[in-house]
Amino acid sequence: MDTSVPASPDEILHSVFGYAAFRGAQAEIVAHLTGGGDALVLMPTGGGKSLCYQIPAIARHRAGRGLAVVVSPLIALMHDQVGALEEAGVHAAFLNSSLTFDEVQRIEREMMSGRLVMLYVAPERLTTPRMLAQLDSLQERGLLSLFAIDEAHCVSQWGHDFREDYLALNILHERYPGVPRIALTATADALTRIDIIERLSLDDARVFVSSFDRPNIRYMVVEKNDARRQLLRFLREEHAGDAGIVYCLSRKKVEETAAWLAAEGIPALPYHAGMAAESRRENQDRFLREEGVVMVATIAFGMGIDKPDVRFVAHLDLPKNIESYYQETGRAGRDGLPADAWMAYGLADVVNQRRMIDESPAEEAFKRSQRGKLDALLALAEAHDCRRVRLLGYFGEESVPCVSTQNVCDNCLHPPETWDATEAARKALSCVYRFHQGGGQRFGVVHLIDVLRGKQTDKVAQYGHDRLSTFGVGADLAEAQWRAVLRQLIALGHLRVEGEFSTLELTESARPVLRGEVSLRLRHAAKIPAKAGRGLSITRRKANTLSMDDEELARFEALKTWRAGIAREHNLPAYVVFHDATLAEMARELPDSLDALAEIGGVGAKKLEAYGREILRVLNE
Ligand code: ADP
Ligand code: ZN
Repeated sequence: MDTSVPASPDEILHSVFGYAAFRGAQAEIVAHLTGGGDALVLMPTGGGKSLCYQIPAIARHRAGRGLAVVVSPLIALMHDQVGALEEAGVHAAFLNSSLTFDEVQRIEREMMSGRLVMLYVAPERLTTPRMLAQLDSLQERGLLSLFAIDEAHCVSQWGHDFREDYLALNILHERYPGVPRIALTATADALTRIDIIERLSLDDARVFVSSFDRPNIRYMVVEKNDARRQLLRFLREEHAGDAGIVYCLSRKKVEETAAWLAAEGIPALPYHAGMAAESRRENQDRFLREEGVVMVATIAFGMGIDKPDVRFVAHLDLPKNIESYYQETGRAGRDGLPADAWMAYGLADVVNQRRMIDESPAEEAFKRSQRGKLDALLALAEAHDCRRVRLLGYFGEESVPCVSTQNVCDNCLHPPETWDATEAARKALSCVYRFHQGGGQRFGVVHLIDVLRGKQTDKVAQYGHDRLSTFGVGADLAEAQWRAVLRQLIALGHLRVEGEFSTLELTESARPVLRGEVSLRLRHAAKIPAKAGRGLSITRRKANTLSMDDEELARFEALKTWRAGIAREHNLPAYVVFHDATLAEMARELPDSLDALAEIGGVGAKKLEAYGREILRVLNE
């Protein structure tokens, strides 16, 4: 490959990365940035943000414009990102605290010489006097080609990833006004977008908003019923041997769940902010480098994890809002192959999340906005219709039910059965009303169900609730059915949960229901035991080996074994060498020459030269 002559973005896409065509807005963004314009890019996870600055960086470097600086908050991941570029034949480096003095000096020499194409740095490093002086010198010599600001939502105080250091990045605009800047994020909401533009002075930037649909992700919400077992069944039936992430709310639950899964024979590891930095890094490394590791984690885990073959993201607890749910589930299936977003959800989740907001010391206005966001998520969880439409609708994007997409949501595949729950709701609400009348005493869900079903308990006797007119009026419904009704009444906001004992109280919106002025259709409680994925495709083969015959499968496995050796040798995750999807295509197409091999997606010139003959040999064995 001759790197001395300028090349077009298309040529770079093909020869360096081995891809046939740009995706979506990539081509436009690349052209805009290569031409010197500023850009703000909003694209979902897996949409292909990296190429949006990597290709302009390469193109501008070849045109003699020097170094591109990539700002990223995640120093732990820089090693692999740079490794992936070097594998593709692009001279890149990172500067962070993990390097020795000698290494830093060597990289600085490469940088100042103009040979380096891309440098990854954390924001706090970029704004040190030493670094700025070096950039000044490059700028004077016309060798500063662009700035890319990854995870740009970190500049916004609205999100949960706010980083003080990002605010200082405003200096880039003032100090290097002629150098194009691109800011990228997968956070879709309008407030964050406005924040990014303002705080990074991107007023003149072109804004590129992609569709936030992730057609290869199947969204599923199952009713909680011994969540751990449901999870285990889901892992065994749908994702045996797959890598994935399981999110839990608390550190304790992370530890317990990881240990339990491990005891059940699943290679699960814990990750949360309370662990020693050393063990966290070790577990993250294993997740990235080994195959089929399940990471059980709090939300502390995940940002910037660009492992492409995460096949599922499971939630054992309800996230705070749709933004979080979308970010977390978005980590599945970056490679575009089928992946699952699975969540187990139940009455306790609704109660807990509501209580966490109520009891937080935040101001009332903030709590109100949190409640609104939780309500939107609950509506998604309780929805009877397409989850994808609701999800996208939340981000202001119109869409049609996903029956025609690659991976259909649970509701579209099996429309849930609903029933007319108007009478049942009235019984429950009026029973709560009767409790109020009896001297203001409040009670929780368990007692309410006992009274509705006419169960003689100590508590019933103590409060004389067997004399209430509502005692036993709900004997016709099973306990599980009542829990489902109450969960939905709380989710819909007709009942409020209060205080230490999670007692129930009527809200304003309960009145019309009580008076019989509105009717309610609710979801049936799931049959017990609920199928993990509601019986979607229990025997389906792995995403990337879908429709392979035995010979193809054997070749695929041989390629993976070969790849594992290279990855170990280079101290990189296997997917940096080649993606599964690339190996699968090789196994299927069985190329018989280097030219044929070059046509496989993901095989660029450098990799062809380095590995081509070896691959042909493995394929021929
Ligand atoms: P993001 O940063 O937006 O989450 P990445 O940049 O990591 O996404 O890209 C996601 C995956 O898609 C990567 O594995 C990348 O190699 C691949 N990809 C990106 N653009 C293309 C393209 N034009 N053709 C084929 N694969 C692509
Ligand atoms: Zn759907």
